[in-house]
Amino acid sequence: MRQPLVAGNWKMNGDRATNEALLNGIKAGIGDVEQSEVAVCAPFVYLADVQRQLEASPIRWGSQDVSAEPKGAFTGEVSVTMLKDFGCHYAIVGHSERRSLHGEDNDTVARKFAAAREGGIRPILCVGETLAEREADTTEQVVGAQLDAVMDAVGPAALADGVIAYEPVWAIGTGHTATPEQAQAMHAFIRQRVADRDAATADALRILYGGSMKGANAAELMAQSDIDGGLIGGASLDADEFLTICRAAG
Ligand code: PGA
Repeated sequence: MRQPLVAGNWKMNGDRATNEALLNGIKAGIGDVEQSEVAVCAPFVYLADVQRQLEASPIRWGSQDVSAEPKGAFTGEVSVTMLKDFGCHYAIVGHSERRSLHGEDNDTVARKFAAAREGGIRPILCVGETLAEREADTTEQVVGAQLDAVMDAVGPAALADGVIAYEPVWAIGTGHTATPEQAQAMHAFIRQRVADRDAATADALRILYGGSMKGANAAELMAQSDIDGGLIGGASLDADEFLTICRAAG
């Protein structure tokens, strides 16, 4: 009953020519993707191109970040209203690279989630623990606090307007995918954490897995009962690989 979502996170990759070829490849194969919703999250500067190229397709697009502020003196930032102007459906918020390299804390991420949602963009909220946190047995504490910050800010029912992506930091871009059992355990934990406050929202909430998901491991991850799709980095830059993941999702 939860429609799977596979979203590509291109990160800071690509140029106009390679993006166009990639989108042409995805568009050519999208007819075989039966159930899943498919989206790509592109660098800001390419959103106009992506909008033009995807307009007549079922593929949605989004940004990789968004400002928590509505407008004004915030040099280099991009607002929710600007993203709406480009037809964005999604905005990733709280990706671990933003948290660790750009100092975004739980409060900032919660404000971004709230701003996106209020402006009619669906936030893809990333949560996940580092290797050190997993080894110190604090995974649930860390991920629980990341979730609580957003639920405290917007209320649990508001999560229904977005998507959660569980991305263990140690699995991102490393080739070390979480095992299906490890991923399922955390997805179940996340759903329960939401259910403790709002059972109906938890039931409907899509929770994506991210971290070295690729064509070869997508099916066994997606087969887990609480995994509702994927947030795909490296493997989203190759149309065939990305489509394999999309088909594995349903
Ligand atoms: P990866 O990245 O698929 O390259 O591990 C996932 C992400 O960071 O969203």
